[in-house]
Amino acid sequence: MTSAFDAASGDFGMPRALIDPFARAITYLRVSVTDRCDFRCVYCMSEHMSFLPKADLLSLEELDRLCSAFVAKGVNKLRLTGGEPLVRRGIMTLFASLSRHLESGALKELTLTTNGSQLEKYAAELKSHGVERINVSLDTLDADKFRAITRWGDLTKVMAGIDAAQAAGLKVKINAVALKGVNEDEIGDMIAWAHGRDMDLTVIEVMPLGEVGEDRLDQYLPLSMLRARLAERFTLHDIDYQTGGPARYVRVKETGGRLGFITPLTHNFCESCNRVRITCTGTLFMCLGQEDAADLRAPLRASESDEPLHRAIDAAILRKPKGHDFVIDRRQHRPALARHMSVTGG
Ligand code: SAM
Ligand code: SF4
Repeated sequence: MTSAFDAASGDFGMPRALIDPFARAITYLRVSVTDRCDFRCVYCMSEHMSFLPKADLLSLEELDRLCSAFVAKGVNKLRLTGGEPLVRRGIMTLFASLSRHLESGALKELTLTTNGSQLEKYAAELKSHGVERINVSLDTLDADKFRAITRWGDLTKVMAGIDAAQAAGLKVKINAVALKGVNEDEIGDMIAWAHGRDMDLTVIEVMPLGEVGEDRLDQYLPLSMLRARLAERFTLHDIDYQTGGPARYVRVKETGGRLGFITPLTHNFCESCNRVRITCTGTLFMCLGQEDAADLRAPLRASESDEPLHRAIDAAILRKPKGHDFVIDRRQHRPALARHMSVTGG
């Protein structure tokens, strides 16, 4: 993938692999295809969100071109997210076109993170475009609590979506945000449920992104406390299982299943970071927990050639910071970052 250094221009020809200043190879791209969503989860959005005008969004063709530029530079895993990726009109055409990179072998995985509300409709089609594994976000199995957390969601639809996904042969992983006083007593039952259906479960600490109209300190449950509580009911064995992501896994002896913990606040996982994120307007965030970003929409639109785009990507990766510095504490009540999680897709 590396091409020769051009001494005259002081530049490398394109494309070349993406290596950041800390010698981390960037092989994983997460793309938020819309900032819109059919839910309003209390930790993610405020009830009255203002969304981007549709005209600001990259078209599906532009998203394809952008993703393909990263694939040419060695990205081998692509995750579409949002907002809710499955509410973007025509999204299946993007999956269909990106699947050519699976067929060529350049891409090892094409996947998505979804709230599950539209999965019943799309599961089989996703599978037909080469998607093998998906993440479904689900924080509770209680319909009333589900409605309270998502403000607008209907648990029966999500359950039907998970059924459809499994019936279509998709491997499902459940992601649950641990919320103090809301679902902390339920995580044990969720483990039994998920593992009983052959699904891994990962619990995530609330991150301080965006104003959501609630106090973060009220939501925040350190996973060290959750783990101690779970250890009263289950035998948890640390295992080496790695997905290249930030989760640390344990095997639950009683269920035989895997449980992951994502702890951005109590444990820093940045040293092995292999990922960058793009918003639906083509802004590249080199770190989920920092403000620095690079506009890729201008170079994308500047020319039919991908060369300006490749150059902008190279320059941005050289600015990838060492890590984030999230804090939720009593002195810092405001979000660490003003941006909502739905902008970068988590
Ligand atoms: N709508 C899709 C979904 O919910 O799966 C994809 C986008 S959503 C922003 C991606 C993930 O981010 C979800 O698992 C959600 O629970 C998580 N998330 C959103 N806001 C968060 C926050 N403040 N802290 C931790 N996780 C958050
Ligand atoms: Fe929508 Fe996902 Fe955010 Fe919930 S977490 S509001 S489903 S984008």
